[in-house]
Amino acid sequence: MRLIEETLSIPINSIPRGTTRETFTIQMKKVLWDIPDADFSSEEGTLDLDIIRTEYEIIVRGFLDAEFTVPCARCLAPVVFTVTEGIERMYSWNPDMLSDPEVEPVSHNDGTVCILDPVREAIIFSLPAMPLCKQDCRGLCPKCGINRNFEECEHGFEA
Ligand SMILES: [Zn+2]
Ligand SMILES: [Zn+2]
Repeated sequence: MRLIEETLSIPINSIPRGTTRETFTIQMKKVLWDIPDADFSSEEGTLDLDIIRTEYEIIVRGFLDAEFTVPCARCLAPVVFTVTEGIERMYSWNPDMLSDPEVEPVSHNDGTVCILDPVREAIIFSLPAMPLCKQDCRGLCPKCGINRNFEECEHGFEA
């Protein structure tokens, strides 16, 4: 199987019939993630894919093992996270199946299956609602903006 890194697309003609299991190493910074605030700190990620190809459909299951950073909700320091969610998506070129909203079309323009969306969703679902650099992060002073983890100011501290 072949994987186009920038768009996480797999050319259909590289997917054999039946079940294929393959692990890809991805240069994380090359992929067009388009996820606001997330910065991909790890140089490389590992994408494990199980792909089942039948006559009319392609089922993709997988997991991205990678680290990324988001700003701490209180002090904006970078916080490292790993992806915890897996992906599962079905693609088809059978018009009868495409009425199912869970089924995505195979792109006939370039003959690829694009898994960027499900992988992006897995990353976003892995994001904590309130990322913290540490549980007791004291945050930035709302008056003068100093980082209260490292400095004191005259404005006191109300948690
Ligand atoms: Zn913090
Ligand atoms: Zn202050």
